Amino acid sequence: MPKVLIVEDSKVVGSVIKKKIESGLHYSVHWVQSYLQAKELLDKDGLDFFICLVGLYLPDAPAGEIVDYVISKNLPTIVFTGELSDEIRKKIWSKKVVDYVVKESGYNLDYVINLIKRIYKNKSIKVLVVDDSQVFCARVAGLLAVHQYQVFQAGDGIQALKILNGNPDIKLVITDYNMPNMDGFQFIKEIRAKFSKEDLSIIGMSGDNLLSAKFIKLSANDFISKDFFTEEFYCRITQNIEAIEHIREIKEASNRDYLTDLHNRRYFYDVGQKLFENAKRNNITISVAMIDIDYFKKINDSYGHDKGDLVLQKVARIIQNRFRASDIVSRIGGEEFCVLACNMGSENVKSIFEQLRKTIEESEIISGTETIKITISTGICLEPAETLDEMIKYADKMLYKAKEAGRNRVEI
Ligand code: GH3
Ligand code: MG
Ligand code: MG
Repeated sequence: MPKVLIVEDSKVVGSVIKKKIESGLHYSVHWVQSYLQAKELLDKDGLDFFICLVGLYLPDAPAGEIVDYVISKNLPTIVFTGELSDEIRKKIWSKKVVDYVVKESGYNLDYVINLIKRIYKNKSIKVLVVDDSQVFCARVAGLLAVHQYQVFQAGDGIQALKILNGNPDIKLVITDYNMPNMDGFQFIKEIRAKFSKEDLSIIGMSGDNLLSAKFIKLSANDFISKDFFTEEFYCRITQNIEAIEHIREIKEASNRDYLTDLHNRRYFYDVGQKLFENAKRNNITISVAMIDIDYFKKINDSYGHDKGDLVLQKVARIIQNRFRASDIVSRIGGEEFCVLACNMGSENVKSIFEQLRKTIEESEIISGTETIKITISTGICLEPAETLDEMIKYADKMLYKAKEAGRNRVEI
């Protein structure tokens, strides 16, 4: 469990934040109330806090010494402050802090929670900084490292493209315009040939603000002027990272069935088609199975629609657990599931679906005082056909045959 350190003398502030982090994030929180206690704690070995929240002014450290101390221990640091004059803001940003939070307001508590979550997530996010000025590149990389990103640095576009090739999971590229070998615009064109705006965010950076619109028109996601204020820099980085995360979440949700969390019909036909064509090209065997719950209408009629939903969820889990992540298991209709499995011998297919039939027949779905029993019928197509649609039709025919023959059967 990630560990958070709080150094704050105010009992009210300390306890409220500790509770909020524990309940909101389920992280473990260690709270001390003075500079001395923090020092004693951190001078011991083996305390692996991933972040700390410290009051700017503590009774035994009235000039903000705690901030320098925890930063010297390489701890990402969020500063609490009671007041926020321009002077205090400048003082805070003159140190390598993650951010500051003004004490005592409900909104700020949510801000702290999101910030901590953000910094924790950043540890697995790769960012690439490209600038021929080593000093500037290192400065930007240093700021990103404070926010815990995994940072790569490149001195020109060619080197950057090599890094990107080796790390296609890089989520953000921050690039200069004026560089040897390839300018920033050419570099962006090269990136966009492979990575879309939704998958990889690009931020242009230049001392020349006239370039901002050009960068964005060339499909950079954003622009930051080189004479940025640190606080603005972090806001924009976070905003850009969150934007692509949200797009990914929406995409993922649009491929899933809300009730069972299996893939949905749309995903099945989209990705199934690609899998089918790939299998054909490479002589990989592919099988399609249609599964339908028997007399499901009766379940709804006898136990109610909610219990029916519960049955669907349970059946979905049982089916999914039988297959590999590379197979597609989807709910394509009310109580109908479709499985597309690759590289499975026909004997293997038969036995897997027979076992699945048996597992479901033997399962008891318990809800309150009621125990619900169900069975499934399965139709399978093992023959490679011209199109995926044809295979689905055959599987459907077999399913109909299983129903006709009395249900709770597998027909191939
Ligand atoms: P058979 O053995 O021939 O397949 O009979 P059946 O009753 O299972 O088939 P039928 O197609 O007659 O009925 C399917 C039922 O599934 C009717 C519909 O109300 C119900 N259903 C469809 N989607 C959902 C859902 O999301 N939740 C619940 N609870 N029921 C659903
Ligand atoms: Mg049915
Ligand atoms: Mg049906």
